[in-house]
Amino acid sequence: MIQITDPKSLQNYRNKIQENVGFVPTMGALHEGHISLIKKSITENGKTIVSIFVNPTQFLPGEDLDAYPRKLQADLKICELAGVDCLFMPDIQEMYEKDELSIKAPKIKGYILEGYNRPGHFDGVLQIVLKLLNLTKPTNAYFGKKDAQQLFLIQNMVKHLFLETTIVPCEIVREHDGLALSSRNVYLNEQERQDALLLSKSLKTATKRIIEGERDTETIRKIMLEILSPTAVEYVQIVDREFNYIQEIQINNSIILVAARVGTTRLIDNIWV
Ligand code: AMP
Repeated sequence: MIQITDPKSLQNYRNKIQENVGFVPTMGALHEGHISLIKKSITENGKTIVSIFVNPTQFLPGEDLDAYPRKLQADLKICELAGVDCLFMPDIQEMYEKDELSIKAPKIKGYILEGYNRPGHFDGVLQIVLKLLNLTKPTNAYFGKKDAQQLFLIQNMVKHLFLETTIVPCEIVREHDGLALSSRNVYLNEQERQDALLLSKSLKTATKRIIEGERDTETIRKIMLEILSPTAVEYVQIVDREFNYIQEIQINNSIILVAARVGTTRLIDNIWV
């Protein structure tokens, strides 16, 4: 596995590759969720590039940028064992100038849900993803459905800016008890982990009610909010796959999303129905 830390070397490396390139951007502290994206990329492409970069521009003031879990040595081993061809781990100064153009997420869909609770977050996400896509020019880039709104906004950016990468959505990987894997789960103590389970539990209950025939999104939201009451809910919302709020569940075209704080840890989860 080649390790690269500067953008120019990454471009040189990429430009020599003739085969299809798969790209998996991450912020590190890799877990099975990340590994599933990496494995999918390795299966589907001649070469796979993984990036590890805790992107400062997507963190709001007061968020956990400094505390964000960093496990570089373990991440290196994971990538090596998985069969990654190139690991890109730039310093902040290599990726950003002091004064540079900014990218704005779409005014509506970049500022609802996650974007409402973390205003400007998606500006930073799109800025770094665009930089990384320009450096790696991947045939395919892999993103988790765990960050459903991020996935949607990246798919839109690729479309609006006529980028030539195919964005590949990947299924959410969960613990045996349903908890969606997240680098932030390490913040949870035992009690908080129990409460964190309520997110996936609420989504599971919602799905069950839909299977039983419930279609009214307000009713489903109320049921979920009840289950989530021991947590500090930020939102429970139901949208179609274009992120429009909907009143009635549309089978195979709906996403149920939840964000809640457990202790000081902010967690998100969702299910596609
Ligand atoms: P992050 O390191 O949190 O920025 O995540 C990097 C990529 O991994 C993103 O595309 C995430 O959506 C994806 N990801 C994170 N957690 C999971 C999970 N539990 N299952 C599937 N993909 C995930």
